[in-house]
Amino acid sequence: MDEKSGSSLPSIGADAKKRRVSYFYEPSIGDHYYGQGHPMKPHRIRMAHNLAVHYGLHRRMEVCRPFPASSSDIRRFHSADYVDFLSSVTPAIVASAAATQNESGSSAASARRLRKFNIGEDCPVFEGLFEFCQASAGGSIGAAVKLNRGDSDIAINWAGGLHHAKKGEASGFCYVNDIVLGILELLKYHRVPLADSNNGQRVLYVDIDIHHGDGVEEAFYTTDRVMTVSFHKFGDYFPGTGHIKDVGHGTGKYYALNVPLSDWIDDDSFQGLFRPLIQKVMEVYQPEAVVLQCGADSLAGDRLGCFNLSIRGHASCLCFLRSFNVPLMVLGGGGYTIRNVARCWCYETAVAVDVEPDNRLPYNEYYEYFGPDYNLHIEPKNMENQNSPKDLECIRNMLLEHLSRIQHAPSMQFQARPPDVEPPEQEEEDMDHRQRRRIWNGENYESEDEEDQKPQNHDSGADDQHRNIVS
Ligand SMILES: [Zn+2]
Repeated sequence: MDEKSGSSLPSIGADAKKRRVSYFYEPSIGDHYYGQGHPMKPHRIRMAHNLAVHYGLHRRMEVCRPFPASSSDIRRFHSADYVDFLSSVTPAIVASAAATQNESGSSAASARRLRKFNIGEDCPVFEGLFEFCQASAGGSIGAAVKLNRGDSDIAINWAGGLHHAKKGEASGFCYVNDIVLGILELLKYHRVPLADSNNGQRVLYVDIDIHHGDGVEEAFYTTDRVMTVSFHKFGDYFPGTGHIKDVGHGTGKYYALNVPLSDWIDDDSFQGLFRPLIQKVMEVYQPEAVVLQCGADSLAGDRLGCFNLSIRGHASCLCFLRSFNVPLMVLGGGGYTIRNVARCWCYETAVAVDVEPDNRLPYNEYYEYFGPDYNLHIEPKNMENQNSPKDLECIRNMLLEHLSRIQHAPSMQFQARPPDVEPPEQEEEDMDHRQRRRIWNGENYESEDEEDQKPQNHDSGADDQHRNIVS
């Protein structure tokens, strides 16, 4: 599938190309609805799943229904008051808070709580919000368990990748940070040092969503047990963090890497940074597990994005990481032109199981979304790449310089016993007064009608199919 591999680590199996793949899918995920005109559409996950099933990919992997993450699972990263809030808030509570904003009493208190937890237009309260979070987080935790047990080489959760969620607040359409929870689960394994063996797990997090992976970076900013690498649009763009000079702090210094990019970056420019940087990271850090956030808003033609990647270019990141044959968790994330998100995550599922699917789409429950071409792949847009070769070279060199400063595989040689990994305590601050950027300006975009509709008929066909393939 991809000629240039980055494999520098020993292959485990006899067949260098074969991987055991687990795929987490909750059949009700596509029923969740953020609200009219909201760009985040969980329906895209069902569309991706449906396409994958019609390509027959489910026969090449283990399809698992995630256990919902419990409140106590979620509290491993998130604060107790925030989890209590998420598990009890309803649209009716929000409506009543809005109606009585100027009054004193319990509704005013709940309006304050909504502000504290950053609930609003970007992150609304919708019916079944907590169940949605539980399914998303349950998939990523389940994926970590599969990898930890050695039951699979690649574990996929397209409902995960919600990288903006913070310890005590929602952000950028994300409420619960399934990625941090998944990584904490990966870190649980092999924590006790063994003689002549690696002391402690090192996890590499790679983020190719167009937005900076701020929530994950923040959670692990002061530890060398998790290295975060985010490729993102930088400059007057949500969330505003991810400067090239942000490299981590304390023990975590140089274990955060930020790749700031400008508009309309194309496949070649992107890979010209991705491959040498990730190659170097794999050499110096030698992670025992890798988590790849595959946000699809970096694709050409995304409703909120401004990059110009093809699906092949996007998937090339997965091909490259897969070639190292290190346990790999593959997650979703952003992606707002949902027909392309479905195409992309279906193709990436095919990459995971090492199949090259026909460009002609098979008939599927959502076939009408994919006209007029009905192809799997998309063409890049005719936009001028604002990343000059000189800029790209400068970024590459600066980041390779940062990487040259990290010790080889840190937690291995220098610590008799790795410290317990707990997400760093955030400073208490009055959330009400913090300036928050928005990921979306709240406009109702030119409706791509089909995509803006709340899906009415929940394709029972696909769900039946799911039951068959899971049982
Ligand atoms: Zn995004």
